[in-house]
Parts: sequence; C-alpha cells; structure tokens
Amino acid sequence: MATTETNSNPHSPLLHGEDLYRGEMFDNTIKLLDVAAKAINCDPNVLSRIKRPKKAIVVSVPVRMDDYRVKVFTGFRVQHSSTLGPYKGGIRYHQDVSLSEVAALATLMTFKCSLLNLPLGGGKGGIAVDPTKLSRTEKQNLTRRYTSELGTLIGPQVDIPAPDMGTDSQTMAWMMDTYSQEVGFSQPGVVTGKPIEIGGSLGRNGATGLGVVFIAEKALEKLGMKMSNITMVIQGFGNVGSHAALYAHQRGAKILAVSDVSGGIHNANGLDVPELLKWVTEHKVIKGFPKAEPISNEALLELKCDVLAPCAMENQISEVNAPRIQAKIIVEGANGPTNNAATKILHERDILVCPDILANGGGVIVSYFEWVQGMASFFWTEEDVNDRLKRVINGAFDKVWEIKTETKLDMRTAAMGSAIRRLERAMLLRGLYPR
Ligand code: NAD
Repeated sequence: MATTETNSNPHSPLLHGEDLYRGEMFDNTIKLLDVAAKAINCDPNVLSRIKRPKKAIVVSVPVRMDDYRVKVFTGFRVQHSSTLGPYKGGIRYHQDVSLSEVAALATLMTFKCSLLNLPLGGGKGGIAVDPTKLSRTEKQNLTRRYTSELGTLIGPQVDIPAPDMGTDSQTMAWMMDTYSQEVGFSQPGVVTGKPIEIGGSLGRNGATGLGVVFIAEKALEKLGMKMSNITMVIQGFGNVGSHAALYAHQRGAKILAVSDVSGGIHNANGLDVPELLKWVTEHKVIKGFPKAEPISNEALLELKCDVLAPCAMENQISEVNAPRIQAKIIVEGANGPTNNAATKILHERDILVCPDILANGGGVIVSYFEWVQGMASFFWTEEDVNDRLKRVINGAFDKVWEIKTETKLDMRTAAMGSAIRRLERAMLLRGLYPR
C-alpha cells in the first residue's frame, strides 16, 4: 500500500505532496478522482500516484514593456503524467493563473487524453497576467521568454503545448519559432493549434466548439430530441463558445442567449449568430449587439432551455445555482465549470451533465491530428479532420454512456472511471522504476 509523506513541522512554511497544489479546483479534481477510483476499484498504489503531478515547473519571466521598464511575471508548466505519451495541454494567460489551477487542469488533461484513447499524457501551463493589458509586442516578448525558460522541458516528443484562455494560434507561432531558434532547426511539432501556414491543421480552430456540438447531439439523441429544433444557451463567446454557437445555429438550434466578460445578451426568438460574430469582430465584445436584450451572466445560466453550454470559466455552476438550473442537458465546453456539489444536485435532478473531459475533448483530438499530420508531413482535408473528430468523440461518448447505464453513476464519474481504467492498465504494465 502506498503512503503519502505529509509535512509534520508546524513551523515550516514548506508544503509537501498534494498540499503543494491545494486550491478549489485541484481539491475538486482529487475528490472526483477518489470517487471514480473507488467505483472502478482502482489499484491504491496507482491512485496515490495519479493524485499528484509528475513534475511542476515555475519560471520567472522578465519582460521589456513598451515604456522600457522590465516587469517580471510568473509562469507555470505542470506535467501530470506521461504514461500514455508526451504531456499535452494548453497554455493559459489570465491574471488568476496559479500553480494549483494549472495542476488541476494538467490532471484533467491526463484523464481527457486517456478517455479519448489518445497516445498522449497530461500537462498544462500558464502565466499570471491579464493579456488584455499587454500590447502585441509585450505579449510576444512574454511568450518568447516563457518558452525559452521552459527550454527542452517541452518538445515534440516531450511536452506539446496548445492554446487555451488568453492565447491563440499567433501565441503558438511565437512559441514554435522560439523553440526552433533555440534547437537550431524548425520544429513545428513542439506545439499544436498553430496557424495553417506553418503546419497547423484545418479544423483545429473550431474543433472544441464542434466537439461540444457533437456531444450535445449525442446527448439529445439519448433524450429523444434533435439539434434541429432545440433551444440552447451558451456562456462565453471566445474560441469554444462562439464556434459552438455557430455550429449549433447551422444545425437549426435556436441560440437564446450568450455572454462574455462584458455581460450577456438574450433574444427569445433566437440570436442571429453570424451577425453576432461580425459584431464581435468589429467591437471585440458582445455588449451593445442591437438585436437582443441584456441579461446578467447569473440569470443566463438559469434560463429555461434544452442545452446549456458553459464555455467560459471554471466554478460557474455551484450548489448555489444548481437547484435553479432549468436546462435538460449541460455540455461543459469550459474546463471545470461545475463543482462536485453541483454535479450531485444536477444528477439528482435528472439533468444530464456531459463532463468537460468528454465534451471539450474536440480541441485535443484535433491537436493530436495536427501532431500526426506534422510528423507525417501529410495534411488532411477539413472534411477528413471533422469526420475523424466525430468518430473519436462519439466513440468516447458511447463508452461513457455504457458505464453510466451499467453502474448508474453520473456521466462525470463514469467518464473519469473509464479514463482511470485505461491509465491504470498502462501503469501496471509499465511497472515502477526502480522497483
Ligand atoms: P477564450 O479566451 O477564447 O474565451 C473565453 C470567453 O469567456 C470569452 O468570451 C470571455 O469574454 C468569456 N468570459 C470570461 N470571463 C467570463 C465571465 N465571468 N462570464 C462570462 N464569460 C466570461 O477561451 P477559450 O479557448 O474559448 O476557452 C474557454 C474555456 O474552454 C476554458 O475553460 C478553456 O480551458 C476551455 N477549453 C478550451 C479549449 C480550446 O481549444 N480553446 C479546449 C478545451 C477546453
């Protein structure tokens, strides 16, 4: 039986083991792991290992700002598990980024890749910075220095970053260029989510939103409904939320409300999504869109609808608002939008929650396709990419549905149980070094 070292010195500020990563999202992830591991009877030695990341890197990132001052930012990269393949996970730029949050997201990536049957492990990175306050030059300087501080701790066979909140394909292009300059030759495989011109994959930009829609379609089918005549509410109108809105709208769904950091908008007859996208391109935020009424982010989550897709931030649905949610299905585009207490309440209320590690898997699936296409130097059509995405994500849904039906577990625990099972088998086959 594995044991866990804890810090017994009350005068020491040093933290050990899981305590190093304490925080709401990390603690929630560990609790979920415990419940799912118990449900599938996971080996206790395996469980004690997967509750902690394999490696956590903290870097200081000095950046020359436009006014010529040097500002030092804190960057993180947490590498949770490489049992199934190289670490894989996004880079987040947000003022609230912390070691704890990054560790929770890295842990979720391990289980997402495992659930989706990808040959990849789990990692995540981020910098505590408000990217909206940086000029383009400052953002480039920050990205390049962060990449150089990580050095060969990332790499096409080691750890492969991708975009997340506050970063995009341009950020990945700067990371790829910096890494390539330092190793001396072009290494497109070091990141995914790159622009098409430098080795990106067709379909990657909209992949997470499209995956959200594929999962919504599967869940609707189970409840005897069709995407072509449902109502949908989406929180967040960034990469994930805006693509989910567009693809659902194209399939006939009525998008009743969407929101972003500027607030929400509502139209009971359905929003004109293509027009809204044009508005956001011009005005940056959805606020002020003329053909809708304003609505608060809190009220938006509680609107009556068939599908609610939280696609913005973590911890948006808690025990406080879960009793008031009126959606039939929740499809988690964001990572960790629903806490454990809310998951329990929603399960008891018979609201079907398609969890993040399944529902937003489209991004990492097409990232994996990008990595494969890059290694083969052979690129697929967008139709090919989307067909393969549909097959992989729908296959994962079916696997989770089967476990849920067999065990009566909620979808989140069933998905986590399925993911733990694959990882556990691999860990036991590989064994512990040295023994
Ligand atoms: P993004 O930065 O493109 O968009 C985030 C959106 O959320 C923006 O519209 C922003 O205005 C909005 N937002 C921020 N704070 C808000 C608040 N308090 N209330 C309402 N809206 C708010 O980020 P993204 O890439 O779309 O990521 C969104 C979520 O999806 C994150 O949790 C991310 O980890 C997850 N995710 C993203 C991908 C991907 O491929 N981009 C893949 C998997 C998971």
